[in-house]
Amino acid sequence: MLLDIDGVLHVGDEPIAGAIGALERCRELTAGVRLITNTTSRPRAAIVGRLRGMGFTVGDEEVVTPAATAVSVCRERGLRRVLMLVPEELRADLAGLREAEDGEQPDAVVLGDLGDGFTPDALNGAFRALLGGAELIALQRNRYWRSSAGLVMDVGAWSAALEYAAGVEATVAGKPSPALFLAALAEIPGDGRALMVGDDIEGDIGGALDAGLEAVLVRTGKYRPGAAAAAGVEPTATIDSIAELPPLLTRR
Ligand SMILES: [Mg+2]
Repeated sequence: MLLDIDGVLHVGDEPIAGAIGALERCRELTAGVRLITNTTSRPRAAIVGRLRGMGFTVGDEEVVTPAATAVSVCRERGLRRVLMLVPEELRADLAGLREAEDGEQPDAVVLGDLGDGFTPDALNGAFRALLGGAELIALQRNRYWRSSAGLVMDVGAWSAALEYAAGVEATVAGKPSPALFLAALAEIPGDGRALMVGDDIEGDIGGALDAGLEAVLVRTGKYRPGAAAAAGVEPTATIDSIAELPPLLTRR
């Protein structure tokens, strides 16, 4: 079972009613649980720490992020030397990869949110690596986000610029791309049915269905009535909150 975190387990700093017990019950009822999130602004340790602070029991290995997925993708494809355009605090999550040294042609460019670090020098370094044959792996594909100074371009926009300039197509590590779902599932033993639970009709539900999973939409977090119909996505089931998930599983 794969569970989205924000909007499914908690909203803000508050756990959703019944979520702490439901998560533990889901572990008992399945071959394994992974919590998957598109967060690229903080490292996995911080995500785990925040959940524990709210009262959830969570193993470090249970949280799968786009950075962890980028590591899996690089390993799978034999991409050994990596140019990392990611903020300093995210480097811990990419420790499984070897950074390309100066003058060395990278096998991959991993693109995260560098913020003010997106300088012409940094972008041209990535551009030349791509021209030299490196694969582009973007941690997510958001167009922009709201900083304290106003709206700013996000990773998706910089990724699109690099794709256009170098004539390549990025692999996206975050949802709704299948990469995150498949990397998380690969860590769970067995080959039975796989279920994704989320509050985002496109990122969670549409992405999971495209990756071949069943997908349960919760009416918490960013859920809006009518969003499923508007997106043309039909969840396998819709429930009021994660608290209803264990009874749903035992009925199936
Ligand atoms: Mg969510």
